[in-house]
Amino acid sequence: MEKRAEELVERAVVALETLATEPEFEIPASPPLCPHCGVMNPTVVSQESEGQGKMSEIFLELACTHCNGKFLVVPQGWVNFESVNELREFFERAENGNSAEAN
Ligand SMILES: [Zn+2]
Repeated sequence: MEKRAEELVERAVVALETLATEPEFEIPASPPLCPHCGVMNPTVVSQESEGQGKMSEIFLELACTHCNGKFLVVPQGWVNFESVNELREFFERAENGNSAEAN
């Protein structure tokens, strides 16, 4: 797993260097995995922070409950909801996948 984290750091460095030289370069999104322990879709704790800035530049500070590693994430796109209920339905549909349609 440490090897995987090492690879991710190397990829991030390459991406940042490319971003610095090519303003229109887009960093590809990766699956939701912890950059420290490599666990896929770990439970995370959001580090509360108040701030103001452009929506396109927002980031989240997270802590992985599996390894306690802290890291930052940047959303790669937007799916907007006007209420918590809409958001909840979205996640339920995503979790159920096509099985919901089969019922
Ligand atoms: Zn972790």
